Amino acid sequence: MAADRLRFVLGALLVLAVTVAALTGQAAQQVESVPSPADPASALSSPTPPPPPTPATRPTPIPLDERCVRGQDNPTSPLAGRTVVLDPGHGADDLGTVNLEFSLFESEITLSIAERLRDRLVAAGATVCLTRTEDINVPLLERARFANQQRGDVFVSIHLNRYDDPQVDYTMTMWGEEQKDLRLAEALLQALAAELPTPESYAGILNPLSRETARHEPLDSTLLLLPEMPAVLVEAVFLSNPWEARAFAEGQADGTHWREEQIARAIEAGLRRYFAATSARDEDDEG
Ligand SMILES: [Zn+2]
Repeated sequence: MAADRLRFVLGALLVLAVTVAALTGQAAQQVESVPSPADPASALSSPTPPPPPTPATRPTPIPLDERCVRGQDNPTSPLAGRTVVLDPGHGADDLGTVNLEFSLFESEITLSIAERLRDRLVAAGATVCLTRTEDINVPLLERARFANQQRGDVFVSIHLNRYDDPQVDYTMTMWGEEQKDLRLAEALLQALAAELPTPESYAGILNPLSRETARHEPLDSTLLLLPEMPAVLVEAVFLSNPWEARAFAEGQADGTHWREEQIARAIEAGLRRYFAATSARDEDDEG
């Protein structure tokens, strides 16, 4: 009898133990299968992929200065997303080169070229900032600082040349620091020499003078050395040349400003070449 009772008690204990084990297991399974959404650890082990980054996680763009115009949406353009700082040379009491015969002032023409170039580049996707948008004289140091503040990808200062011999007319670009600026100086020079129509091309002959004399030169100036980005000064044409002077005067009189427009178009072509080559180099560096 005692042995039977013992077997019964042991048996009952065994059944109890199995039942408890089974219940505990179920409870544990239930805890695993119903993770609390508030628990960050269970959210991490969840197979759901993490949500895509929201726009808020992207770096916020810097607020635009009133002298800047944001680029239009143009994803296929080599200028898309670039920031170009244009510097219309001279201004106010600093007239630059003056052609009294045609009442032409370098300071007015450089602003006109810069505005036309800005409109072209903005349509091509670049954000464009001008160091001056009116007839004021901005010190060179401030022009260069402005380019850095706006985080420009390139800085282009626009000028017109002069020489005692009125027949002289060619394009020149100037760079400050070879490593930083020379590639941009060459790209702009090539585009201007190749694409800017000249008196010779209007006369139906090839333009040997401009192509052969077009050149780039170093210029030791804060204007080019202080900007942290590639910086170039463009002496587009000679305002002392009568053909050029007549071209500017004619365009001012009939409102077409066709010579300024041609120069703007040629500089735009140079910037397109430059940024297309830059993108290609970046891709080479990545690959
Ligand atoms: Zn000048």
